[in-house]
Amino acid sequence: MLPRAHSPLNVSARQPLLDQFGRPLRSLRVSVTDRCNLRCGYCMPQENYVWLPKEALLSFEEIARLVEVFTSLGVEDVRLTGGEPLLRRDLPHLVRMLASNPAIKDLALTTNGVQMDAQAQPLYDAGLHRVTLSLDTLRPERFASLTRRDIHAQVLAGIEAARRAGFDKLKIDTVVLRGENDDELADLVEFGRGIGAEVRFIEYMDVGGATEWSPGKVFTRAEMLERLTQRYGTITPLVENSSAPAERFRLPDGATFGIIASTTTPFCRTCDRSRLTADGLWYLCLYAQSGIDLLQPLRASASSDELAARIVAGWRARNDRGAELRKSGGERGVLVDIEQLRNDPHLEMHTRGG
Ligand code: SAM
Repeated sequence: MLPRAHSPLNVSARQPLLDQFGRPLRSLRVSVTDRCNLRCGYCMPQENYVWLPKEALLSFEEIARLVEVFTSLGVEDVRLTGGEPLLRRDLPHLVRMLASNPAIKDLALTTNGVQMDAQAQPLYDAGLHRVTLSLDTLRPERFASLTRRDIHAQVLAGIEAARRAGFDKLKIDTVVLRGENDDELADLVEFGRGIGAEVRFIEYMDVGGATEWSPGKVFTRAEMLERLTQRYGTITPLVENSSAPAERFRLPDGATFGIIASTTTPFCRTCDRSRLTADGLWYLCLYAQSGIDLLQPLRASASSDELAARIVAGWRARNDRGAELRKSGGERGVLVDIEQLRNDPHLEMHTRGG
């Protein structure tokens, strides 16, 4: 492990690594696979994709090594994602390796829950701290039409298994699509309340891969609040000093929920997140056109200092504010067309890790 005090690059707990807008390098999303077992229309609407070549995928040892370099530079929060991370064989083994890195304060996983029934306990036992489950509907037939897979019961079993395994602070993430599931907000809040999970409603984002996106399909933060106010009465925003993407709110009866409003209310100025793809490209923004290659130097036996130097240079130069630029860029449509996505699968949200 690279002790922070000995970092050759003058980065330490007292001197955090900052980008051009003074944002610290703090959260890292690690995509462990670009594959997924669902075909949600807002993310992976095609049945087939250009997949990353197997030989380019980082091994668990390579992931742990890169994460160690990142944590030596200030990263404290690591989230495993994908694609669908549970499709990566032996994921608990990777979790065990990361859980032994004392610099990681929050080790989390984002999953669609399809395979959680079998994997929740091994993941918990391996030292995973937290789980966020994606669930867009409580209705089986609607789930089948949104995801093109008729396995809603399996996802609910996965959520229950996560609870049983001992994960507390469960989060449920719901992408809200106009005319498709915007009538389920209160039902989902109640579902979350029933299982002790906090639901976070996500605005439909025009990220790469969302080839069916249009402004009219975005059910906005303002509309979500209006809908929930009609049902529950006055909603109170929780004032928090946090770089988390969700704004949190309290209902009159004390229940809380979150909204991630990247489309209408971007939060680029507090964004401390970056993303590592399963084949070792490092992206500094979900909307970025290109990433920084860490695979090549890693496999060319670069030292940890050399890898750290690349990361430091990348972060110091970072001036991305993709969501804000999309919002201010005038008429908005699909970000990347299918042809371009086929030529460069790294432009896909499911490749760079949502
Ligand atoms: N497969 C895992 C899952 O479903 O949680 C992890 C990867 S998935 C890309 C991560 C999150 O991104 C999910 O909650 C998904 O709903 C969200 N997402 C994907 N495409 C989106 C879009 N166009 N707008 C908003 N959220 C999106």
